[in-house]
Amino acid sequence: MRERVKIKDGVEPKPFWETKTLEEMTAAEWESLCDGCGRCCLNKLEDEDTGEIVLTRLACALLDIGKCRCSDYANRFDKMPDCINLTPEKVRTLKWLPATCGYRRVKEGRGLAWWHPLISGDPETVHQAGISVRGFARSEKGVRADNFVRYIISDFEDGES
Ligand code: SF4
Ligand code: SF4
Repeated sequence: MRERVKIKDGVEPKPFWETKTLEEMTAAEWESLCDGCGRCCLNKLEDEDTGEIVLTRLACALLDIGKCRCSDYANRFDKMPDCINLTPEKVRTLKWLPATCGYRRVKEGRGLAWWHPLISGDPETVHQAGISVRGFARSEKGVRADNFVRYIISDFEDGES
């Protein structure tokens, strides 16, 4: 049975992402901030001379592009050693998290957009809004590393709202 949410003086309590810091969130709350867009699983290339980071539309081999979810989330660090464990500190310091990312939005005080599953109640809205990499990314499988440059994209439209 679901616990009743107490409403004080007819005012609904604020959601956790508006009241807690990133560090204060429970593991379940933290995980739920991910909107399932899959954007952070696209390969990035870094210019050795300038440090500039560019995005490609090549997705990590473990990404299920149709679902935009990691196909082996529990073992991702064993299978993909360069997969990044997102922490509050990383959210604050990584330069390439997309502007649409739920973690980045909350960190910047922008709240969650209408298409975030925590707002819409529907995991499909992130795809319907064109935020996810579904239908856009292709797997890195079978692509030689020296050919990754062919898949550089100038940017990924943010579709912010
Ligand atoms: S970019 Fe952010 S919201 Fe999108 S999949 Fe990665 S962690 Fe989740
Ligand atoms: S291992 Fe999973 S979570 Fe990590 S980049 Fe690849 S698909 Fe994304």
